[in-house]
Amino acid sequence: MDIGVLRRDGRTDPFFDGTAAGRLVVRRCEACDRWFAPDASGCPGCGEEELGWAEASGAATLVTWTILPKEPPAFLALVELAEGPWLHARLDGVERADLREGLALRAAFEHPDEGESYVLFRPWTERGSVR
Ligand SMILES: [Zn+2]
Repeated sequence: MDIGVLRRDGRTDPFFDGTAAGRLVVRRCEACDRWFAPDASGCPGCGEEELGWAEASGAATLVTWTILPKEPPAFLALVELAEGPWLHARLDGVERADLREGLALRAAFEHPDEGESYVLFRPWTERGSVR
């Protein structure tokens, strides 16, 4: 599915360096041990303006989703990382009937020929990827 070509903007370099290496790197406030989305600009907990970057586990759950009426249909989701932050990302390897709030997901990475690598999420069980 084509989601357009992603370009880095300077602020998000660590995020895209991470996706290129198959790692989900998000913002983290060291002072209060809280995690934030890659586009977060500061910590509302302690007022820290320079958030660090840290690798998240890749475990997530489905919060909500939109189905784009294409062929095949595309699934755009809002997921909650195990560490807390919410991310917008594509779902992969899902059927309409699989979708439910709280569905266990794992991060996976796409490396398109053009533009930046990006993260998507696939259903996940204790035994590994569902599909
Ligand atoms: Zn903080």
